[in-house]
Amino acid sequence: MKSLLLKGGRLLDPGSGVDGLLDVRLCDGAVEEIGPHLSADGATILDVKGLLVVPGLIDVHLHLMNGLGAFGADPDVFGVGSGVTTVVDAGSTGHSLLPVFRRHIAEPAKSRVLAYVNLSTLGSVAGAGYSTLADPRLIDEERIEQVVEANRDMIVGVKVMATGAALGAEGLKPLRRARRLGDNLRLPLLVHIGESWGKGAQPPAIGEVLACLQPGDIITHMFTVHPGGLLNPNGRLWPEVCEARDSGVLFDVGHGLHNLNFDVARRVLDQGLKPDGVSTDGHRLNRPGPVYDLPTTMAKLMALGFSLSQVVEMATVNAARLLRRSDEMGSIRAGRPAEISVLRLEERAWEAVDSQKGTLTARQALTPVFAIRNGTVYEPLSSERYL
Ligand SMILES: [Zn+2]
Repeated sequence: MKSLLLKGGRLLDPGSGVDGLLDVRLCDGAVEEIGPHLSADGATILDVKGLLVVPGLIDVHLHLMNGLGAFGADPDVFGVGSGVTTVVDAGSTGHSLLPVFRRHIAEPAKSRVLAYVNLSTLGSVAGAGYSTLADPRLIDEERIEQVVEANRDMIVGVKVMATGAALGAEGLKPLRRARRLGDNLRLPLLVHIGESWGKGAQPPAIGEVLACLQPGDIITHMFTVHPGGLLNPNGRLWPEVCEARDSGVLFDVGHGLHNLNFDVARRVLDQGLKPDGVSTDGHRLNRPGPVYDLPTTMAKLMALGFSLSQVVEMATVNAARLLRRSDEMGSIRAGRPAEISVLRLEERAWEAVDSQKGTLTARQALTPVFAIRNGTVYEPLSSERYL
């Protein structure tokens, strides 16, 4: 039996309504006991005094086909190497490459790796900005259904690029096909908005995109400044956005190289639309900045007005709900696998930078200290590490 006692930290678990000085004892990779001043009982002590102990952070949108093109990052760089225990690939592969992703990326990773299967057989093999859905033959529902059924433990939904560049002359037809597929598979869609890559392509109107969606489907890049975003030319939310939110459509940050704009974020937040998931949209090109890691993206949301507890809630229990995995992750409970993140919260000013080099003075910094998964404690990699 291998026991570990996290001693002296502030346990912040919004999903369980817990915020206080509590110790956590782990045994054989599972949570054994939570309480004040737990005795060591032979356990190895990990001193976390002055640090935050939170449920394993969940980054719900990344690009993790390590070695594929310019993007594919090592899951453990953004995962346990960034204080994060679960990382979710946002459609790097279509149905045909998904078994390769499973065997060579997800299974060897030390982080928990989940994935959206791309609606297009091409996935992101060609790179961003290509017409991956413009030929109807590039969508093969039958094969997607087969790969989902064989990989239910890993697949959390279907990724759709709702951009003019990807859809081409097919317009919204691929999105409608995706929704029917989602119905058959009982899986949500993860829908990319924002014409960030296609030069000059016309994005579909957001209202038309949202009309194809159902409660539980997710719009990612909610703070994009690019055409096809949530704001009308007057800086107001399109009315269909509020209707969709009220009906249960979910919204994710998806920071990335292009899609976190502080001005857009302020306008969207001022009108009452809040993120359900917080994510880096991490890949090799944005790891050295402006993204770095999930704790940094969380700290940027704090600079935009959210409390620590709110951003931890987004990255834990809310993310688990968005992935429909609340029964297995998102809060620290006795008997569950021990997936825990330890963070340092510092009161210090730093300059947060968005995807368009806009800046904001943040008053609090959030940095990873440890990620704990399967009984192993991982220290963060330097932010220079991006492969
Ligand atoms: Zn992405």
